[in-house]
Amino acid sequence: MEREVTVRIAMIGGGYVGLVSAACFAEFGVEVAVVEADATKLAALRAGRMPIYEPGLDALVSAKVAAGGLEFGHDLAAAVRGAEAVFIAVGTPSRRGDGHADLSYVFAAAEQVALALTGYTVVVTKSTVPVGTGRKISDIIAAARPDLLPGRDFDVASNPEFLREGSAIADFMRPDRVVIGTDSARAADVLRRLYRPLYLIEAPIVATGIETAELIKYAANSFLAMKVTFANEMADLCEKVGADVHDVARGIGLDGRIGRKFLHPGPGFGGSCFPKDTLAMVRIAQDAGAPSRLVEAVVAVNEARKAGMGQRIVAACGGGVRGKTVAVLGLTFKPETDDMRDSVAVPVIGRLVQDGATVRCFDPQGMIAARPMLPDGVVFCHDALDAARDADALVLLTEWNEFRAIAPKRLAAAMRGRVVVDLRNVYDPEAMAAHGFDYSSLGRPPRRATVQRVTERA
Ligand code: NAD
Repeated sequence: MEREVTVRIAMIGGGYVGLVSAACFAEFGVEVAVVEADATKLAALRAGRMPIYEPGLDALVSAKVAAGGLEFGHDLAAAVRGAEAVFIAVGTPSRRGDGHADLSYVFAAAEQVALALTGYTVVVTKSTVPVGTGRKISDIIAAARPDLLPGRDFDVASNPEFLREGSAIADFMRPDRVVIGTDSARAADVLRRLYRPLYLIEAPIVATGIETAELIKYAANSFLAMKVTFANEMADLCEKVGADVHDVARGIGLDGRIGRKFLHPGPGFGGSCFPKDTLAMVRIAQDAGAPSRLVEAVVAVNEARKAGMGQRIVAACGGGVRGKTVAVLGLTFKPETDDMRDSVAVPVIGRLVQDGATVRCFDPQGMIAARPMLPDGVVFCHDALDAARDADALVLLTEWNEFRAIAPKRLAAAMRGRVVVDLRNVYDPEAMAAHGFDYSSLGRPPRRATVQRVTERA
């Protein structure tokens, strides 16, 4: 029988990826010390409060902290001491102005880690980083700690993360694959031991070089962004020719070479990853002398789509929204998260307010994060029906389940007007028309009300 060995690791960064990965590794039986530089976030974590909304995270973190397998601190040297692997899970936002990934947090973390290393350690990037970053981290550590070189007391590896916000724990625990990029057999062995529980569910391990691992992450996100952008363009075309985008998606998605996922039209992708990763991919490819025209087009098409959604709503409202009240359901870039990064809600609501509308909005989890990102005067409501109260038009921006469940009758009773713009295609066009709504969605013919406007209010 193999001997069970407890592995100890440090996680630099306690954000979406760092926190979820740390809690899941702790669930795998690994001892994890999370280092978080943001004092407010750290205080929340230490007090048992989650700084982000992610289903199931609260319970998992508190169980692991109680069991002693997970701890939070700011002392990086203490966390790194004795760790077999140190994961860098800090942000890599778009660099202002040029779209390259901003690696300043990654390199700063690498320097700090280098100075704290004691004995053989694998330094692993979990952050999404451009090709070549692993080598640069290796150079940074070598320059800061020449004493480690003779004994080869460190290795660098790339272990990109593919979890999705909203289903992050399940994604980490049951991944489609784990990518381990390193040139060192010793480092690969450490990482394989960390992921050992996944052997039981036969999660494929893609063992490769560092550069390849780094590129896999950008290639995956760029491909997914391209797929969703294709669906969005098909939706536009369907509207022009009288076709139904859902049937087109099903008709092509049943082809195993295409696949059914990620063919749902929407207002343009947002969030913390696709926008910045597609942009960084464009720059990586340009710098390498192998430009990706496809990804360049995806970025441009998506930008234009997001910018155009406000106009679409204005048109649905008869060409102007001045003096009108517009209810907006959903603010986060997708359901089951409180993440507002690059959410389409920001340009859409900005446009409506600029055109003179009063916006009443509601999101189940995103209100706190959204408040500083939206213009003054936007009314934050208690729930969806409160947002809809006396509204002339209603816009569905994020497909939270609780919005799907609203009976059209109740919406009709709450609203003053009858315009509904559904940018996630969650409502049934026939049912909406039958309840007196002038309903428009994406890639399906708009439906005029088929009953007289109901005047009595519930
Ligand atoms: P985030 O901003 O939520 O978290 C990063 C955290 O790192 C912050 O809390 C910050 O305070 C902390 N930090 C920065 N420098 C530090 C340092 N030197 N020491 C300690 N803490 C430090 O970012 P995120 O969404 O978790 O993304 C992290 C990386 O993972 C990015 O490269 C991202 O592209 C990638 N990624 C994100 C997702 C996702 O869904 N959010 C999925 C896959 C990959």
